[in-house]
Amino acid sequence: MHLQIIVAFAMLLWWPESPPRDVWLSDPFWCPVFAWAVPVTCVFLGHIFSKRTGLRLRTRANRLSATLNSFHRKIGLLRLTMLAGVGVSLFLTACPQQLMDRPFISVLSGLPQMCLLLPYLVGLIALWWVVHPVEKASRDAGFLGSTSNRFEYVLFNVRHQLLIVAIPLTLIVFAYAATQENRDWFVKHVGSPWAPEAILGLTATVLFILSPLLLRYIWPTTSLPPGPLRDKLEALCKRINLRVRDILVWHSDGQMVNAAVMGLFPQLRYILLSDTLIEKMNDEEIESVFGHEAGHIYHHHIPYFLLFALASMLIVSAVMEFLTRMSTGLNPAWDLSRDTIQIIGIGALVPLWGICFGWISRRFERQADVYGAWCAAPHEQALNCKTPCVVHDGNESATPAAKEIRVCSTGARVFVGALRKVAFLNGIPPTEPSWRHSSIASRMAFLTAQSGDPVMARRFAQRIRAIKRTLLVSCSIGLVIAAIYIWNQPRYRQDVIRSVFRPIGRLFGQ
Ligand SMILES: [Zn+2]
Ligand SMILES: [Zn+2]
Repeated sequence: MHLQIIVAFAMLLWWPESPPRDVWLSDPFWCPVFAWAVPVTCVFLGHIFSKRTGLRLRTRANRLSATLNSFHRKIGLLRLTMLAGVGVSLFLTACPQQLMDRPFISVLSGLPQMCLLLPYLVGLIALWWVVHPVEKASRDAGFLGSTSNRFEYVLFNVRHQLLIVAIPLTLIVFAYAATQENRDWFVKHVGSPWAPEAILGLTATVLFILSPLLLRYIWPTTSLPPGPLRDKLEALCKRINLRVRDILVWHSDGQMVNAAVMGLFPQLRYILLSDTLIEKMNDEEIESVFGHEAGHIYHHHIPYFLLFALASMLIVSAVMEFLTRMSTGLNPAWDLSRDTIQIIGIGALVPLWGICFGWISRRFERQADVYGAWCAAPHEQALNCKTPCVVHDGNESATPAAKEIRVCSTGARVFVGALRKVAFLNGIPPTEPSWRHSSIASRMAFLTAQSGDPVMARRFAQRIRAIKRTLLVSCSIGLVIAAIYIWNQPRYRQDVIRSVFRPIGRLFGQ
C-alpha cells in the first residue's frame, strides 16, 4: 500500500514541463471527468464486492479464508487501477496543462501537481470507507475484536497508510516544483546549474532521516511503560547489542497485530509494537516478533534496500543513455523521441521493482524470521529447550558461526506460533500471497523446515550472502563505469566541472 502511494507521488516528479504534446484526451471538460471517473468507478466496484463478500462471510462460514483472500485481491486490483488512472491523466491527457492554466491553482508551485493527485487520494479514502463492512464481518467471524466504527476505521487507515508517506512526499513535491519554477534564481544564488537538484536531494535526505520522528507523531504512539515486558525487551536489546531511542506502543484500537522498526541511526530509531500484539501474545512471542524487527537492523536490510534503489537507478540511466545515443547523432540507428525513451526507462523500473525487489524483500523477511526465532530461543543453556534441536542437542563440535545460522526448534516454534496469531488476529488468510513478505503459511513452513535441517539453514545463509554481495558488487562496478563514462564524454565532463567541482572550489575559497 505504502509503495503504491510512493509511486503515485514519484510520477508527479516526471510532471511534463514541456508544452502539451499529442495527448489522448485534451477536451477541457472530459479531462477532469476522466480523472475522477476512474476512482469513482473503482469505489463503486469496491462497494459491490464488499456487499457480496459480507453476505458470503455470513452464509458460507466454511470458506472464510478463500472468500477473504479473493476479496483482498480484488480490492488490491482496484487500487492498482486507480494508480494507473493517475499515470494516464498525467502522461496521456491535457489535465496537467489545464491545471497549470488555472490562475488560482498555479499561484502556488506544486499545487497543480497535488490537484492532479486529488482524485486518487479521495478514491483511496473512499475505498476504506466501503470495505469497512467486510473488515467488520471478518472480525465478527472471530478474527480481531475491534470496537472501531466506520469513521474511526477510515481515520486509522488514513493516518497509518496514507499520511505517513503523503506528508513527507507532499513536501518533496512542493520543494521540487518550487525549485524547478525558480530555477534561474537558485542557479544564480548557489552558483551551480544543478542547484535545484541538489536542494531537492538534500530535502529528501533530511526528510528520510527524520522520518522516524514524523512517524512517532503521525501514528498514535506512546512509550512502552516500565514493567516486566519492558525489562525483558531491554535485556534482549543488550544481549543482541541493539540500540534504539525508544520502544513504542502503537495504538491501533484493536485493529491490528503488527510490529515495525524505523530509523537508520540509533539516535532516531524506534521499535513499535501494536497494542493488540502486546495484549494477545505471551512474552516469548512478543520477544520473537521484536527479534524479527531487530533482525532487519542486525542484517542491515535498510542499507541494502538503498543499494538496490541505487542499482536500479544506474540500470535505468544506462538503458536511457544507450537509447539516447542510438537515436541521436549523424546517422541514428533508431528514431526514438525523448518521451519514448523516458517511458521505456520508467517501464524498466516496473520489472526491476515488481520482480527483483519483491524477491529480495521476501528473502530478507525470512532472514529476519530466523533472527526472531533465534531471539526467542533459550539462550543461556540447553536446559529449557525440550524438543530435539540441532542447536541444543549437545553437539559441541559446531563452530559459533554455524550455531548462529542454525535455528533452534523451540525458538522456531515460538515464532511460528506468533506468526499464526498475526494471521488469525489480523484476518489475513495464511495462504494469502504477499509481495513483500511472502505468505504467512510459507514463512511458517520455511522456519519449521530450517529448524530441523542445518544443511538447508546453511544454504539459505549462503544465498542471502550472495544477494548482498551481488548488490554491493553491482553498485560499485556500476558507479565506476558511470564515472569513467561521464569523464570520457567531453560534454558531460564539462557539466560536472561547471556544476559540481567549480561551486565546491568556490565554497572553499579557491
Ligand atoms: Zn519484517
Ligand atoms: Zn533449541
